[in-house]
Amino acid sequence: MPHRPPPSPIASAELLAVGAELLAGETRDTNSGDIAGELTSLGVEVARMSQLPDDLAVVTAAVREAMARADLVITTGGLGPTPDDLTRESIAAALGEEPSVDPELETWLRELWAARGLPFSKVNLKQAWLIAGAEALANPNGTAPGWWVERERHVVVALPGPPRELQPMWRDQVLPRLRRRGLGLDRAVTTLHLVGIGESALVDLVGADLLEADSPRMATYARADYVDVRISAVATGGRTAQEIVSEAVAGLSPRLDPYVFARDEATWLDTLAPLLGEGSLALAEVGTGGYLGLLLGRAPFVALAEQRPEAFDALTLAADVRHRAEAEIGLAAIAHEKGDDMQVEIGLDIEGVTDSVTHTVFRGGDTGRRRSANVAVAELWRRLRE
Ligand code: AMP
Ligand code: MG
Repeated sequence: MPHRPPPSPIASAELLAVGAELLAGETRDTNSGDIAGELTSLGVEVARMSQLPDDLAVVTAAVREAMARADLVITTGGLGPTPDDLTRESIAAALGEEPSVDPELETWLRELWAARGLPFSKVNLKQAWLIAGAEALANPNGTAPGWWVERERHVVVALPGPPRELQPMWRDQVLPRLRRRGLGLDRAVTTLHLVGIGESALVDLVGADLLEADSPRMATYARADYVDVRISAVATGGRTAQEIVSEAVAGLSPRLDPYVFARDEATWLDTLAPLLGEGSLALAEVGTGGYLGLLLGRAPFVALAEQRPEAFDALTLAADVRHRAEAEIGLAAIAHEKGDDMQVEIGLDIEGVTDSVTHTVFRGGDTGRRRSANVAVAELWRRLRE
């Protein structure tokens, strides 16, 4: 079908997950998150994700509203043959189109049934529907083809719900078409991981004006063990997105550097490796559930009892584990619950120079143990940087 050349690359998207089972909490909407991650990495801003019931009026309105806001609208689910699967009807209604059976698709469908020696029921014919401007997306893993619909600057894509059908269709059918159609702005993003500072203190440190600015966009996220600052930008004013992000990071650096232990995919090991050099590290942990060993898996690791943390002292333990492992550095963490929180005593022996410090981390239980291990590693990092 002939189309006018697209005015500009697809910059924004909305995702509509359709299915009563999603709203009943029986199925988790993993499809939207999977697609959102890919679109984001391609420079398309996912502006909204919704979960909708199998309801013609609701889905029709949602498609229409999403098209009014975004260049690309992707639905998942509701492509089956049964009367409760209404996504095709909804897209057709939103576009003011009347679906009709596509002869080629009908032949393909009938052959699927014939090959299995099963009688073909007319209810299946829905899966052979198309509307004007729509292309069918082949489904080698099921009986429901997807839809690719172009309408002026908009693209509407309908994908089947089961992830094992959706994913190949997305990868083999949708992504190549999106690339041909043109997508993504020059966007860049980086995430800084911080320890030793809470989210509210971080907000104060970064400052409200930066956090409320549109470009670059900055946001803080509290993770289980640390806090993130995410900085993203779209190219503007003759500068690339990467330049804008790098400049913002450089601007934050004097304030945040004392807390930033890693960036993007980097881990504690990446951060500590250059500081440790050839020096070996021995660990002892009590009451931290083995998390210290998990974080620093490379080190000679001495596991100790998870019980009776009061029977140990971190200074002795750090020196002892260093000697036994014949390591340059000994690090010991002893954590115990104190009220609702956790107290962690950290011992360090760096080539015979010993030191211990006690921190309180919020929350007990597994969260407290993880946080305690992170605080111990952060303490080692702090000492190695001195
Ligand atoms: P449907 O295409 O709506 O008939 O969905 C068929 C099946 O796909 C459902 O029973 C779910 O198991 C799965 N499914 C549907 N939507 C999603 C979704 N958004 N995320 C993950 N799985 C889904
Ligand atoms: Mg369904």
